[in-house]
Amino acid sequence: SIEMASISLVLTICVLGFYVPAPSLASPSDGNDFLRCLSTDVPGQLVQTPSSPSFKQLLVSSIRNARFVAPATARPPICIVTPTNASHVQAAVRCGRRHGVRVRVRSGGHDCEGLSYRSGRRDSEAFAVIDLAELHAIGVNPHEATAWVDAGAGIGELYYHVATAAPGLGFPAGVCPTIGVGGHFSGGGMGLMMRKYGLSADNVLDATMVDAQGNLLADKKAMGDDLFWAIRGSGGGNFGIVLSWKVRLVPVPPTVTFVKVARTMEQGAVDSVTKWQTLAPALPDDLSVRVVVQNGEANFQALYLGNSSAVVTTMGSRFPELRVTIADCKEMSWLQYTAYIFFGDAINSKPLEALLLNRSMPWDNSSRTSPTTSRNHSPRRRGRRSSAGPMVPPRGSSSWSRTAE
Ligand SMILES: Cc1cc2nc3c(=O)[nH]c(=O)nc-3n(C[C@H](O)[C@H](O)[C@H](O)COP(=O)(O)OP(=O)(O)OC[C@H]3O[C@@H](n4cnc5c(N)ncnc54)[C@H](O)[C@@H]3O)c2cc1C
Repeated sequence: SIEMASISLVLTICVLGFYVPAPSLASPSDGNDFLRCLSTDVPGQLVQTPSSPSFKQLLVSSIRNARFVAPATARPPICIVTPTNASHVQAAVRCGRRHGVRVRVRSGGHDCEGLSYRSGRRDSEAFAVIDLAELHAIGVNPHEATAWVDAGAGIGELYYHVATAAPGLGFPAGVCPTIGVGGHFSGGGMGLMMRKYGLSADNVLDATMVDAQGNLLADKKAMGDDLFWAIRGSGGGNFGIVLSWKVRLVPVPPTVTFVKVARTMEQGAVDSVTKWQTLAPALPDDLSVRVVVQNGEANFQALYLGNSSAVVTTMGSRFPELRVTIADCKEMSWLQYTAYIFFGDAINSKPLEALLLNRSMPWDNSSRTSPTTSRNHSPRRRGRRSSAGPMVPPRGSSSWSRTAE
């Protein structure tokens, strides 16, 4: 239709505007002009170049895919800008346009192909990184059941601040607490509450962003409908730099139940996974079951927004093959669940603050993430609520479970 064609045209122009410097822009520079340009609007301590003592530490600080540590440090950006307010982001975008330097933006650093901190091109493209880690404020409005969350915050921080400021409310998003809301919401954001409440992006009410020209767009009205639509699920790094999201919070009960059941091949893992594929989308909305297949085992994990006796009854009637008993269930608060699904029993020995607010969580150098096949595992699913829990990652892709990180 004409409407679809015009939307596609607008989206195409937006994408090209952000990624490909227009012909009228300066030709690629060696970076010095770009750095000089930055120095007029961004304080020196917020700009780290490869000669800065803490540059490498900052560059690798939120790399979550071990495969990219070596390529990222071998071909580093001209600099890393760590903005503390919107004007620094605007200046970096404008200087990038003026001097032909591509700008990469990083929030949580979980991009499966590392495109928030490395060039990804074969030629020696000049690029700079805007790292939003310093912009991670969260303001919760319990009466309105909303929150503003800055793009550099991790989802663990969001969960923690929502649950402590507004008991009884939560937010539907992913599993790993250090995922940045900047990239996560931009790509959708799948988690175990999405069957009931949709993706994270479905719960974005408003946003502020810097567009590809360096303009500050203070809200969705300033963005216009198409751009506001596009930033909620199209994948990060395409349409501009989101600084902050306003999100709708959702009700969660005082007690939720987490269920874990493992099946080996001998115990019928294949049949159970086959059944799960048709059954998971038809379960009650309060119950999401995901399966992580690793090392010949199918690990079923379920979140039920209620107590254990109810989930045992439901699983017994809908998925009897799993033979779920009370012993497979753990009752806890929703906030505890957000840490438990990732850290397991560590929640018994460490305070939730130490687990959910820790942005510099070390990852295991010895475990290598498998090659990825897709740029982002959060496909846009606007217009319909996703039905099953997060799936087994596609063949050859990185798993989202902690063990494969
Ligand atoms: C260990 C792990 C676990 C995961 N678990 C889940 C899960 O449970 N559910 C799920 O849905 N997904 C999951 N993902 C995928 C994850 O949601 C995406 O990779 C997401 O894009 C990461 O966002 P980020 O801000 O952490 O990453 P970044 O690497 O910082 O950014 C990702 C992309 O978004 C762009 N971007 C970052 N910030 C902004 C911004 N402020 N404005 C515009 N663009 C921006 C970047 O340039 C890059 O292209 C997981 C990934 C990993 C590595």
